[in-house]
Amino acid sequence: MNYDVIVIGSGPAGYVAAIRAAQLGLKSAVVEREKLGGICLNWGCIPTKALLKSAQVFEYLKHAQDYGIKAGTPEADVTAIVKRSRNVAEGMSKGVQFLLKKNKVDTILGTGKLLKGKKVEVTDKEGKLTVYEANHIIIATGARSRELPNLKQDGKKIIGYRKR
Ligand SMILES: Cc1cc2nc3c(=O)[nH]c(=O)nc-3n(C[C@H](O)[C@H](O)[C@H](O)COP(=O)(O)OP(=O)(O)OC[C@H]3O[C@@H](n4cnc5c(N)ncnc54)[C@H](O)[C@@H]3O)c2cc1C
Repeated sequence: MNYDVIVIGSGPAGYVAAIRAAQLGLKSAVVEREKLGGICLNWGCIPTKALLKSAQVFEYLKHAQDYGIKAGTPEADVTAIVKRSRNVAEGMSKGVQFLLKKNKVDTILGTGKLLKGKKVEVTDKEGKLTVYEANHIIIATGARSRELPNLKQDGKKIIGYRKR
């Protein structure tokens, strides 16, 4: 299949570029190997802010009396807090799916690999390969966390951003 623009990666860089290209009249597609919205929506900005919100509510409740409110002794249910954060992220990812569809951007699920001659090979979950062609290919595959030599991710005090 031929496109004017193929974007590899659907994070804040990729999905916005694909949508803008489509709005400018270009036939566009985005290739994503995990979840639409990338790290920001699924692991980074959004879920962390949802966790922070729970912490803020907990803090308010602890000091409710200072505001003239009797709220008893609050208890944090970490499983429920994490579940809420995952639900918020899930909702935002669905929002990106909706935006892509609304703007007529094709979503291709799988791992993209650049080939010679303006081609992108996509391997889907079943291992099936499909080659797409595009006049323009945008690589928006994001970054990875880096472990610092003196700050090992021990899974206790220091955890990676994908750990729950
Ligand atoms: C814990 C944490 C909290 C953060 N909080 C904030 C914040 O509050 N505010 C803020 O501005 N930024 C925040 N960030 C940074 C923000 O997440 C990144 O700046 C942003 O996600 C970068 O967007 P991107 O589109 O470049 O890449 P990404 O969001 O990383 O998206 C890249 C996408 O490409 C996909 N991909 C990679 N390789 C391939 C391939 N070969 N084929 C198909 N798909 C591929 C990946 O699966 C991913 O979905 C935070 C990051 C972390 C880790």
